[in-house]
This record gives sequence, structure tokens and C-alpha cells, in this order.
Amino acid sequence: MASCLFCQINNRVIPADIVYEDDACLVFKDIHPKAKVHLLLIPKKHIEHVLDLQREDAALMGHMLYCIQDIAKVQPELQEGFRMITNTGSNAGQEVYHLHFHILAN
Ligand code: 5GP
Ligand code: ZN
Repeated sequence: MASCLFCQINNRVIPADIVYEDDACLVFKDIHPKAKVHLLLIPKKHIEHVLDLQREDAALMGHMLYCIQDIAKVQPELQEGFRMITNTGSNAGQEVYHLHFHILAN
């Protein structure tokens, strides 16, 4: 989606500090970190938020959870523990309408 900030990061139109990538997902550092490690894990597919998921996206969501083990290999701080947050919709303060999981570790 051309106007979407995170699609633009995925398409390398907007630069970001990318720490992990595979065929289905991308991980980059949050521009305003709220913890010592603050990553954003996104699907490459444009999905607005959790309530926009289709049944067919179930495998993609499982893949994204599973690949955190590989992300922890390049961000070893995660091996000591981390939090994952996904803001969904305006009441949750979602700013960027491309599904993303905040990964936070101190
Ligand atoms: P939300 O509030 O939608 O859950 O989170 C959006 C996140 O995207 C925020 O934590 C914000 O700091 C981050 N963000 C916004 N614009 C950019 C950007 O251009 N680059 C990066 N790397 N992160 C961004
Ligand atoms: Zn997008």
C-alpha cells in the first residue's frame, strides 16, 4: 500500500534500522525507543491490525511468533525476556495502521 509508512519501510522507500528479515516479515528498530531494545515486527503483507486478519493469515501469524527465536539470535538481549504489545485501533492509540508487534526489552 503506497501511502503506508511501514509498507514504505518494507519497500526501502523510507530508511529504517532493519535487524531481521525473511520472506514474510520484517523487524526494525522503533524510531522513538521506549526501552533499551524496542523493535517493531511487521508482516510484509499490508494488514491494518489484528481485527483486519483473515482466516488465511493464521499461518503467517504463527510464522511471525515462531521467528522471534531467530530475532533473538541477532538481538541477544531478548533471550533474557521481553514484552510484546500490539495496539489495535484508535482507542488503543494505534498510530500506524499496518499490523505491528512492539518487542520491548530492558
Ligand atoms: P503504534 O502507536 O501504532 O502502536 O506504534 C507505532 C510506532 O511506530 C511508534 O512506536 C513510533 O515510534 C514508530 N514509528 C513511527 N514512525 C516511524 C518511522 O518512520 N520509523 C520507525 N522505525 N518507527 C516509526
Ligand atoms: Zn502497510
